[in-house]
Amino acid sequence: MGNIKKFSLALGALLLIQLVPTPQLALMPATAAESVKSKVAASGKEELAPVLDPSSFVGLAQMGYAAAKGCPQIIAHIFCYCGCDITDNHSSLLDCFTGMHGVDCHICQEEALQALRQYRSGDSLAVIQQSIDEGYSSKYPFKDPTPALKKYLATRLWHPQGQAASKAPANLGSNPEPNHGSCCGEKDKEKK
Ligand SMILES: [Zn+2]
Repeated sequence: MGNIKKFSLALGALLLIQLVPTPQLALMPATAAESVKSKVAASGKEELAPVLDPSSFVGLAQMGYAAAKGCPQIIAHIFCYCGCDITDNHSSLLDCFTGMHGVDCHICQEEALQALRQYRSGDSLAVIQQSIDEGYSSKYPFKDPTPALKKYLATRLWHPQGQAASKAPANLGSNPEPNHGSCCGEKDKEKK
């Protein structure tokens, strides 16, 4: 009898321990996910589609393709805010330069040039992602994050202070009007 009572008390205590989540346990999945992400990004073993030959183009287009060719492993993890994730089914800035899209899109070209500049000066992918996100997310032509943008936001290596990883960047949410404009929404051919 006494043994059974002790046993059920012990079982009760055990159940209680398992039911009450500790802060440490709650934090574990996020930390583990973080280190997995970094390993994938740092491995450099991804198979990347080749960037088109910059010498086929002139001017800013040539500079854009050359920049993309200079750091394809970086721009494969940069989001292009010109709207090509919807218009051309792109998943990263690299996709803009493996085809002809980067020829007449200034947003793609500028993002690639900035990425190469920062990469050459020794910035980490996380820092480059943050600068591009903060500099270009206001140019995004769609009001709500699209599936490709949501995926990028969930996997990028930096997180805005005090915001969950899955949330949109601060300046994306505060953009009251979708920015139709400089690239895929409305091609600015007259600048040529
Ligand atoms: Zn693009």
